[in-house]
Amino acid sequence: MEIIIIGASFAGVSCGLRARQLYPKAKITLIEKNQVLGFIPSGFLLYITGRVSTLEEAVFIKQDVLKKAEIEVRLDESLTNCYPDQHRIETTKGSYTYDRLVLAYGSAQESQILQVDDLSETETLPLVYKDFPSAKRLAEKVPAAKTISIIGAGQAGMEAASAFVQLGKQVELFETMDYPLFKYFDQSFLAPFLVTLKETKHLHLHCNTSVKTITQENGFHLETNTQTQASDLVLTTVNVHPKENPFYQIFESHSDYTLKTDAYLETSQTDVFAVGDLIQIPALALKEQLYMPLINNAIRSGHIAAENLEQKRKPFKGGLRTVGTHLFGWYLASTGLLEAEAFSYPGKIATKSCTLNAHLFDEAVIHCKITFDQETREVLGVQLLSKENCLEKINTAALAIETRRTLEELAQKDYFFQPIYTPAFDVLNHLGLGSDSDES
Ligand SMILES: Cc1cc2nc3c(=O)[nH]c(=O)nc-3n(C[C@H](O)[C@H](O)[C@H](O)COP(=O)(O)OP(=O)(O)OC[C@H]3O[C@@H](n4cnc5c(N)ncnc54)[C@H](O)[C@@H]3O)c2cc1C
Repeated sequence: MEIIIIGASFAGVSCGLRARQLYPKAKITLIEKNQVLGFIPSGFLLYITGRVSTLEEAVFIKQDVLKKAEIEVRLDESLTNCYPDQHRIETTKGSYTYDRLVLAYGSAQESQILQVDDLSETETLPLVYKDFPSAKRLAEKVPAAKTISIIGAGQAGMEAASAFVQLGKQVELFETMDYPLFKYFDQSFLAPFLVTLKETKHLHLHCNTSVKTITQENGFHLETNTQTQASDLVLTTVNVHPKENPFYQIFESHSDYTLKTDAYLETSQTDVFAVGDLIQIPALALKEQLYMPLINNAIRSGHIAAENLEQKRKPFKGGLRTVGTHLFGWYLASTGLLEAEAFSYPGKIATKSCTLNAHLFDEAVIHCKITFDQETREVLGVQLLSKENCLEKINTAALAIETRRTLEELAQKDYFFQPIYTPAFDVLNHLGLGSDSDES
């Protein structure tokens, strides 16, 4: 079997490696547009905050791992056309036939509404940092910049803001919605964190503010619905989405350019699969399809597509939108349904919150909120916020949702106790109980 995978990032690489395990005799080729393999989308931040000493180090996979698995990697080569009826593709460097094609060409970090003064300049404007070339360009500009504007206060924008403030930059952060991280947290739950943001020197958060245009003359000028902002540097961290490709019309797609697949990740064209940021996936807590561009979803969908290449064996279960991050001294994590999303849930939801000590012998606390089905009491979503690292707990919560555990079962979940590392009462056990948690 000849397997060609387009895009050698999280989804493409995981598909290739799993395919190698499953089909030892297959010829597997990864075709990748970039010259650098496996660049981590937040690699730029790792670099400017000194977590890695060069941008080249900010990768999740090395070529020799793929070589050892006998996977051919063709860098600096782009898919340009697709002929599924002939089982053939064209790239910038040639024409290839395949038995199975996996599209893993992901998403772009581009605003669809922003106007930039000179479109021919967009390639050189330091606007994004998801891929290696743009991260490199931006990294060169950062040392000289005193004021940096960031458009979008989602996870990527907040992580960038936190890193820049750490470096002593003045950060102007623009968000269309009325609070940051709105996809992952209910506004009232974030209250202590929002206080920190307000009190943070060098950070100015502009909510309910949409940036309309960016012009460049002696620095950058952002025009919003309320003001004009000058800054030395500007970057967009708006939602990622798939790019419209010339061969796009060949495949059935959704209006956001994601490709339609069946449960086994095959597209509308036989023997062509799509994975990662190119597709919508089942949202487990909501029982509908959603676009959830996250690395773990990309990796898991890559694995599952590989399972189905020869024979449709395993449907892709989907995801919960599980995230965890560290911003301005706070650890924040979320999985599943928010209270704010109750309108899209088919049943009735209820919520509970509590604040408990993170450890036995210090003052730090964990704030926790849970959403659950009012009737069945199945857990649907969990949000966590603490100055202590509580991130790993969100994975336990995600498992509870995936396996449809009830609040009462969460109360009985087995946890270890160790006086240095844990409190006496675990926050997830506690949420399963009635008593002093506030339930609504
Ligand atoms: C700034 C930023 C930070 C992020 N941080 C996180 C995080 O911390 N955690 C998390 O879970 N998610 C994060 N994400 C989301 C994450 O980047 C994506 O979900 C993930 O990269 C998707 O992986 P993928 O393999 O599907 O696609 P991508 O990573 O987008 O990779 C697609 C690959 O295909 C290549 N390609 C594109 N077109 C072609 C073509 N025509 N021919 C050949 N190759 C092509 C590209 O060069 C790229 O290497 C972040 C996103 C951004 C923008």
